[in-house]
Amino acid sequence: MRISEILKQKKTLSFEVFPPNPKISKIDAVFGTIDALRQYCPDFISVTFKSSGDYSEDTLALASYVKRHTDAEPLVHLTCGALDPAGVDRITALMEEQKLENVLALRGDPPADFDGEYLKHFHHASELMEYLRRSHDFCLGAACYPEGHIECRSLYEDLIHLKTKQDMGAQFLISQVFYDNNYFYRLVRAARKCGITVPILPGIMPLVNTNLFNKIMNMAGATIPFELRVLFDRFRDNKEAMFEIGISYSVNQILELLANDADGIHIYTMNNARVAGEIYSRIHNVIEKELR
Ligand code: FAD
Repeated sequence: MRISEILKQKKTLSFEVFPPNPKISKIDAVFGTIDALRQYCPDFISVTFKSSGDYSEDTLALASYVKRHTDAEPLVHLTCGALDPAGVDRITALMEEQKLENVLALRGDPPADFDGEYLKHFHHASELMEYLRRSHDFCLGAACYPEGHIECRSLYEDLIHLKTKQDMGAQFLISQVFYDNNYFYRLVRAARKCGITVPILPGIMPLVNTNLFNKIMNMAGATIPFELRVLFDRFRDNKEAMFEIGISYSVNQILELLANDADGIHIYTMNNARVAGEIYSRIHNVIEKELR
């Protein structure tokens, strides 16, 4: 089913997983994560795509697993920065073969170790969408940035480009992570003023360990609020406390977002089903009321 059709009927609960680096972990572990996520009845599960184009078979294998083994719809991320049209065609042919009909169209960023040419054929996600629309009938989604995309001089400029993504066929948007809901509310307000009417799903990534915390702190465009920073400084050496803090903070974000009529909740699970499970168990009554 097309995610746009689901969103016409209800607010959605969704999760993100990613294909592991084969040198570090086996794809079977992520099949296990998907099996475990099934019990929380997500509407869709998105699968990331490595921006170099590597392991694209794994992205499709995971999406296909979601399709065959769960009631959730798979959403295939597709980054175009490293691809030429033939590369896109190769992936979309496989998607059609496997009846994968939802695509999150992205530009991607060149990985640090990438030595190929980047942005040679497609320069922006909207160009990929325009290309896909010419010969396919995918349900397209796109990314949005509550604090503005790092390369953009202003949120306004970013929103003009976001509107282009809607004009090129984006039927829903998923946001970058954020830790102050005010950024998300501002994005939604400003987007609506610019004529962006499609559902905007907030992306929530619980900071459940020190590595993730450090990663987000070093990522431009995701402000860590003072109160969260204080907790991190105090409990950074306590693994279980960090997990509780990450979950509690996200639970509060989600409750407030739902109370403010967010179109759904998208959880970046980092391939850890326990993250989704903890959130679900703490607020399952709210989830059942708002997202079913
Ligand atoms: P674009 O929409 O192309 O925007 C990139 C920049 O260009 C922005 O500053 C935008 O304002 C500007 N821009 C857009 N169109 C134009 C135009 N026509 N003219 C001038 N400027 C323009 N990365 C991965 O590698 N794999 C993934 O699976 C992945 N999944 C993601 C999922 C979500 C929900 C999000 C929020 C991000 C994801 N990313 C992923 C990261 C993403 O690829 C990067 O943030 C990348 O820098 C931007 O991708 P985009 O699709 O938003 O690009």
